[in-house]
Amino acid sequence: MAKYIFITGGVVSSLGKGVAAASCGALLQSRGYTVHARKFDPYLNVDPGTMSPFQHGEVYVTDDGFETDLDLGYYERFLGVKLSRNDSVSGGRIYWDVLNAERHGDYLGATVQMIPHVSNKIKEYIGRPTHTDFVVCEIGGTVGDIEGNIFLESIRQFANDVGRRNVMFVHLTLAPYLEKSGELKTKPTQMSVRRLLENGIQADMLIVRTPRILTVEEKEKIGMFCNLPAKSVISGVDVDNIYKIPLAYDSQGVFDIMAQHFGLPHATGNMAKFIKIENYLDADLPSVNIGVVGKYFDVPDAYKSLNEALFHAGLQNNVHVNIKKISAETFSDSDVEEVDGILVPGGFGTRGVEGKILAAKYARENKVPYMGICLGMQVAVIEFARNVLGITDASSTELTKKCTPIINIMADHDAENMGGTLRLGAYPCVIKKDSLAYKVYNSEQISERHRHRYEMDISFEDEFAKHGMIISGKSPDGRLPEIIELQDHPFFMAGQFHPEFQSSPYTGHPMFNAFIAAAVKKAGLKE
Ligand code: GLN
Repeated sequence: MAKYIFITGGVVSSLGKGVAAASCGALLQSRGYTVHARKFDPYLNVDPGTMSPFQHGEVYVTDDGFETDLDLGYYERFLGVKLSRNDSVSGGRIYWDVLNAERHGDYLGATVQMIPHVSNKIKEYIGRPTHTDFVVCEIGGTVGDIEGNIFLESIRQFANDVGRRNVMFVHLTLAPYLEKSGELKTKPTQMSVRRLLENGIQADMLIVRTPRILTVEEKEKIGMFCNLPAKSVISGVDVDNIYKIPLAYDSQGVFDIMAQHFGLPHATGNMAKFIKIENYLDADLPSVNIGVVGKYFDVPDAYKSLNEALFHAGLQNNVHVNIKKISAETFSDSDVEEVDGILVPGGFGTRGVEGKILAAKYARENKVPYMGICLGMQVAVIEFARNVLGITDASSTELTKKCTPIINIMADHDAENMGGTLRLGAYPCVIKKDSLAYKVYNSEQISERHRHRYEMDISFEDEFAKHGMIISGKSPDGRLPEIIELQDHPFFMAGQFHPEFQSSPYTGHPMFNAFIAAAVKKAGLKE
């Protein structure tokens, strides 16, 4: 059975539990252990798919088509693991399951209660087999939240069930700095740890978010009040990039604390991939400017995975990537005159679409590297139909019914797997040999994640190809265009899927890597 590391948070929300959990997992991986990640959110929504992106940032999509929040993206990227709908579980889903079971008669008339019925359901999700050595398991919210109590109770029970040495409790807190007295205050941390103890949970390690490294005296004081050795109190100092955190933890002996708790042999880790990122971040490198023509810039983290993927591709190409945010709604050519690449990301609804079409036109005509994601592919197709094929009323039925529908709902496609009405999750794509896509992916069969309703109508394929826009990736049945590219262009490529969800900080993603390489060339940084 896997050993578990539970991460809880105290004092305030938004301390970065996800990144802290992922970093602990990364330290275990660096010593050769396998790690899985799971997240429990006490809120009552049954799943995050219907929650406003204005509150939760981007909707992240897993291979199995689960629409979740961006925390799962952190875990997948950091740990290089694939997560599924059972790795992101909300309070709402737990109650939903329990109440459905009750209606179904599964409890055989017993009185259904928080303990044991709800707590057992939570433990069932926690304990699902993972085939890894460890599971890092984040409990969302802040200790003291009413809706979180049953989750704390459940992890307490879980530790008792599987043995205290198979479970480690890591608690993330805040030590605010008081400017006036020049002091770091530890009281909120003490209170939060005491609150955990009321739930029967003794923290085994504390990660204290602070503006500066904790002094020995401060660690001793916290350790004394919180019932743990001073060396198990870690300074969670702010860093300018999350990939520096595993190194910061490693230098404070976080692995050794975990090793001691679980009885693992001492080992030094291979931290090379994090050192590489740190060196890249601190290096004085040339940069490329990428114009992202979008419309959700005022939503924090709406383009989280996209920004990550561009960062990863910069790392692979040894250049810094500057993102120029360009509002699709007010787009004009002058916005992209100075950029080295144009990227049109996904989007829903009519707002800003005509601006995105103009951006694709500019990239095509001026031979600026172009990458389109989902809607970014659809606008490139519409633009080509209108301005090259002369179908002046070409459009998508998402935008208007009065058009020649080049982009449409392919109603009969695999309806059962479409999760409501959106095509969601990973789908295979067959790549045409002798294409840019083949060069980029170096493979004839790939898998990418989708989240969209509309598709390019494949019946236009020949006409597009005759004029130089080819479909270089298709669904295996040949009916759905998945990748398009322009032949007479340095780099013009777009996918009906979201490659950003599979970009890795350690390898980048083939399409993003190639796009940034093209931008490097355009900028004259390389021949
Ligand atoms: N709105 C488009 C569709 O539903 C594109 C979606 C997207 O970019 N994710 O097909």
